[in-house]
Amino acid sequence: MDLRHYVRDIPDYPKKGITFYDITPILMDPEAFQYAVDQLAEKYKESGATKIVAADARGFIFGAPLALKMGISFVPIRKPGKLPYKNRCVTYDLEYGSDTLCMHVDAIGQDDKVLLIDDLLATGGTAEGMVKLVKEAGGIIVGAGFIIQLGFLDGDKVMKAAGVDHDFLLEIN
Ligand code: AMP
Repeated sequence: MDLRHYVRDIPDYPKKGITFYDITPILMDPEAFQYAVDQLAEKYKESGATKIVAADARGFIFGAPLALKMGISFVPIRKPGKLPYKNRCVTYDLEYGSDTLCMHVDAIGQDDKVLLIDDLLATGGTAEGMVKLVKEAGGIIVGAGFIIQLGFLDGDKVMKAAGVDHDFLLEIN
């Protein structure tokens, strides 16, 4: 199955000059959605991951069914003020400014083996923030999986610099 047929390009969204890669057509087609989750499960079946950590909001869509399929825990990462229990947060630099991501303090334990999941790797800023948060909590990152990698941005380099082995189902150049 070619997932590219299920990714819709939206020019000038959310602002002029940016093309947004909309994954909702994957979700509209149960076969494509199942395929995406199955492909990720296949890639990571020998990873030894004990927890999936995924970013709000589209990371949840793929991370949660993957966690169920792999029979492992699911941990949501969200923006400040969204998670009800005690939070552990990190602030990380973006090209312009900074951003903050949080998770529950008891979500990751020492030596938990973590698989990071998100829908799309662009500049790598979000994934780098997730790496920082998981490492600060004592987790070991066994991989990072994305549905899409934007090959014309630096996410690939950022993941390599962070020492994280990452993979994706579709590259858009
Ligand atoms: P980045 O931190 O730059 O790697 O961006 C990754 C995050 O932002 C992911 O959670 C994506 O859902 C979202 N994102 C960034 N750029 C795009 C894009 N062009 N199309 C769709 N989602 C994007």
